[in-house]
Amino acid sequence: MAIPRRLVRFCKRLLVFLLVVFTVVIFFFFYHNKVTGNLDEYVYELPFAAGDRHRVVQGYGGLFSHSHIAAIDFAMPVGTPVHAARSGTVFSFRDDSDEGGVGESYKRKANYLMIRHDDGSFGCYWHLALNGVLVKKGRVEKGQPIALSGATGLVVRPHLHFSVKRRLNYDMDSFVRTIFRTAKGEQLLLNGRAYKRPE
Ligand SMILES: [Zn+2]
Repeated sequence: MAIPRRLVRFCKRLLVFLLVVFTVVIFFFFYHNKVTGNLDEYVYELPFAAGDRHRVVQGYGGLFSHSHIAAIDFAMPVGTPVHAARSGTVFSFRDDSDEGGVGESYKRKANYLMIRHDDGSFGCYWHLALNGVLVKKGRVEKGQPIALSGATGLVVRPHLHFSVKRRLNYDMDSFVRTIFRTAKGEQLLLNGRAYKRPE
């Protein structure tokens, strides 16, 4: 029995479509832009509860929203406790937004918390839940719960965006790459890998 020509055409188109999707996914996942050479000697705590494991869904220089930005996105459901990666004092925060999504207009809708570390750098915790800032002034200690994660601002899925900055702008060299203590030792984090915070 002959295969209907329409079916053959459909299959060819489907194959081309799948190849394009595959290529785009691979490109976005593995390709990344140049980021700063700054590297902090300090060893940070993963910004979630001890014993928890979360996957990095966008790493340094990621094409979606980290172009030239040394920031890490950890996938986590809305409401997941966020813990301080390093001690410091609350510098600024916002937690009155409940809007998030894809598009430029969402950029200014993110809830966040910024902690000023003792060396003058800033720990930035972004996309927090509505009313998700738990500590709004004073000192926070490394490992302490400080916020609840969310999906506010420019996001495609709920996650925590974490970065450390030396200056509060988006210049490439205002950022610092950071080493984390993980269940598999002290390391820089890679896109696509899941990391467990040791007890
Ligand atoms: Zn991010």
